[in-house]
Amino acid sequence: MNASTPPGRTRTALVTGANRGIGLETCRLLAEAGLDVVLAARDPDRGRAAAADLARAGHRVRAEQLDVADPASVRACADRLAADGVAVDVLVNNAGVYPTMPFFSVDESTLDESLQINLLGAFRTCQAFVPDMVRRGYGRVVNVSSGGGALTDNIPSPAAYGIAKAALNALTLVVSAAVPPSVKVNAVCPGWVSTDMGGPGAPLTPEQGADTVAWLALLPDTGPTGTFFRNRRPIPW
Ligand code: NAP
Repeated sequence: MNASTPPGRTRTALVTGANRGIGLETCRLLAEAGLDVVLAARDPDRGRAAAADLARAGHRVRAEQLDVADPASVRACADRLAADGVAVDVLVNNAGVYPTMPFFSVDESTLDESLQINLLGAFRTCQAFVPDMVRRGYGRVVNVSSGGGALTDNIPSPAAYGIAKAALNALTLVVSAAVPPSVKVNAVCPGWVSTDMGGPGAPLTPEQGADTVAWLALLPDTGPTGTFFRNRRPIPW
């Protein structure tokens, strides 16, 4: 339980794209920190299997179907949780895809898919879950972005990915400015992580990649907001 938890209620974290990779490790770290976890995945079978693994390790975890590219799926997930009295205190927007084509090879449907998942997914979940955080006077939003979308580094990632992550960084600032200081909204670059996306040659384990994600999810009330992090340190947008 973190310092801000009111007596009698455990905080609940929802992590998107959580059936594997950094999302799954974030679920594990937050569960180990004592939070209830909603493991959200677009494929319900994969989500249930991942949640069952965590539950076998003694964690309190619930699987939810959530395709961030589908507004109806986001709404339905929020409605199911509300109907069950589950308040989301921590939202980790982790779901992502990594199209690799350079600008002159990328087609519009690939850019559209990247924006739907890497940007609009977080837009939808923020609209679904952040208003209740504001009402309850506590919230943590962590947008899993990438240094590949950093404007100050000329957006070094492939076009459709870099554009979407740069826009996710913009969304981070916009949402952080729209909420009171009791709700912290930050972005994080996890580093180059050995997952399906990062590939086997990446130097960081999923647990190392999830470290700053979980740290931001557990920020104290005095913690930062509207900031971009890597390795628990601020980095330029
Ligand atoms: P990963 O292993 O490929 O996992 C991506 C996750 O996102 C999967 O669970 C996938 O679900 C899910 N996802 C994709 N589209 C979705 C949708 N429409 N709705 C819900 N979930 C969806 O990648 P990762 O490395 O863990 O990446 C996690 C985050 O870190 C991403 O945002 C990524 O951009 C960011 N990141 C990663 C690295 C790296 O080196 N790995 C570096 C910088 C940033 P399925 O299993 O159903 O496909």
